[in-house]
Amino acid sequence: MSYIPTYVFKTVYDIDFNKLYDEGKRIILFDIDNTLLSYKELTPHTRLIELNKKLLDMGFKIYLVSNNNGQRIEMIKEKFLISGFIAKAKKPNPNKMKQFLEKNGFDLNTAIGVGDQILTDILAFNRLKIDSVLVKSIDRSTEHWYTKVNRMREARILRKIAKIDLEKYKEMINLYHEVKDE
Ligand SMILES: [Mg+2]
Repeated sequence: MSYIPTYVFKTVYDIDFNKLYDEGKRIILFDIDNTLLSYKELTPHTRLIELNKKLLDMGFKIYLVSNNNGQRIEMIKEKFLISGFIAKAKKPNPNKMKQFLEKNGFDLNTAIGVGDQILTDILAFNRLKIDSVLVKSIDRSTEHWYTKVNRMREARILRKIAKIDLEKYKEMINLYHEVKDE
């Protein structure tokens, strides 16, 4: 099932990066919109800059992978230091990311992708055969109409995931609805 993330965390600040490092991860591919920043936020805030610094100090290489255009990335990377980026990535198509990773000679086992959408981010990372982290969208009210359409498809996919991997389904549904296990 290509929509199931390897890990689920509420925000990027909750991700256990120490564990990921211990598992051999060295390359992080971050989605931007509603994963690192809401659509409204044009530049990184203090907490994000601190996370950026922590990850660089740990020895991670950070890449931004966005379906958005390069302008957005240019503004962000003034304060959020990265090793590179892929704009207009065309997620869920994995080809642009695949070419990028191959060109740089990266081992796919050392890469992890982080995003807020199963239909674009998680599907792309799974197609790429790298581990993935699903986080909760920062601000859903600012989503584009096509993202909202995806959300309806998402609900159907979640029902299928429930039949395949109930534990993962519960983690995912908690993100979406903030339902706590009794
Ligand atoms: Mg996003």
